[in-house]
Amino acid sequence: MSKRIGLFDALVGNDVSLFERSVINQNADELDAVVKQGDMLGGSIGALQARVVAQGRELERLRTVVGVLAGMLRDSGAIDAHVFDLRLEAMLEEQAEATRATATCLRCSRTVPAMQTELTALGPVCDRCAGQ
Ligand SMILES: [Zn+2]
Repeated sequence: MSKRIGLFDALVGNDVSLFERSVINQNADELDAVVKQGDMLGGSIGALQARVVAQGRELERLRTVVGVLAGMLRDSGAIDAHVFDLRLEAMLEEQAEATRATATCLRCSRTVPAMQTELTALGPVCDRCAGQ
């Protein structure tokens, strides 16, 4: 908590006027609010970091499952490994193109990634405008 100047100190001492006391104490209140907000944000960031780590572990497990399944399908002859690779590359390229595509929002005129829009009867609307 920030230090404040008491009324007695302001009245007795000649160093600080009542106006200065008011301003200093107001600034101390605002500083305390900012410090409190920073503490809360630090907690939120920590929670997000833990979630990102957990999601990374989950992605690793999913990657392993998909790899095992693809290997089993290839080994059993259920799929042609070459055709599988070609289709996988094509799908990854298609996803990359979709990520790069942009659209202009009808409402706010911002250019945003097309994946972050909703297509309405009149055209694309960004997620932010669609959520309003
Ligand atoms: Zn918009």
